[in-house]
Amino acid sequence: MKLVTAKKPLKRADQQSKPSLEELVREMLPYLCQDPAREGLERTPARVSKALEFLTSGYSADIPKIVNQALYTVKYDEMVIVKDIEFFSLCEHHLLPFFGKMHVAYLPKNKVLGLSKIPRIVDAFARRLQIQERLTQQVAQTVLEAIDPVGVGVICEARHFCMMMRGVEKQHSGAITSAMLGAFRSNKETRDEFLSLVNHRMNGGGLGVQ
Ligand code: ZN
Repeated sequence: MKLVTAKKPLKRADQQSKPSLEELVREMLPYLCQDPAREGLERTPARVSKALEFLTSGYSADIPKIVNQALYTVKYDEMVIVKDIEFFSLCEHHLLPFFGKMHVAYLPKNKVLGLSKIPRIVDAFARRLQIQERLTQQVAQTVLEAIDPVGVGVICEARHFCMMMRGVEKQHSGAITSAMLGAFRSNKETRDEFLSLVNHRMNGGGLGVQ
């Protein structure tokens, strides 16, 4: 028996005997519509396959490389916060999108991370089959491991198509998750400073999540 340990979804090149994603989408179409042979659907399997590969491309992201290229040693001990990082992910329960904004903050000890790397870390974990709670934790954990700060806080506000389009069909309902590590967990002042900075923005619009 061959053990499959690769995290990246198998492609045709990895396993010759299995149908490609494109072939699987072609097989799926007759279950979804009455006329799968019509012109408009001709190239759909190729498009869907390409789109899904992109939306799960985070599995092959090289996180250590993203992080290590942008570590700086500095004397700075105020909170660093990157707000309103847009992300788009796929819910692993329905393979439908969930999307929203993430706010990432940390209190440096002696290292900071290049600001542009934080959205790249978010993308690397968002472009996978996810649940919002895990996505939030993974971003926080990655920042923690990268720069060993005094603490990390991540808040994620998102809306889920699986709730909006089906099931409860609550179009304006959103979900908020957070991950508070180190001082963000143990020190109320630090956490409050972060929350007030983020709340200020969230109440002023955003996704309308209360
Ligand atoms: Zn879902």
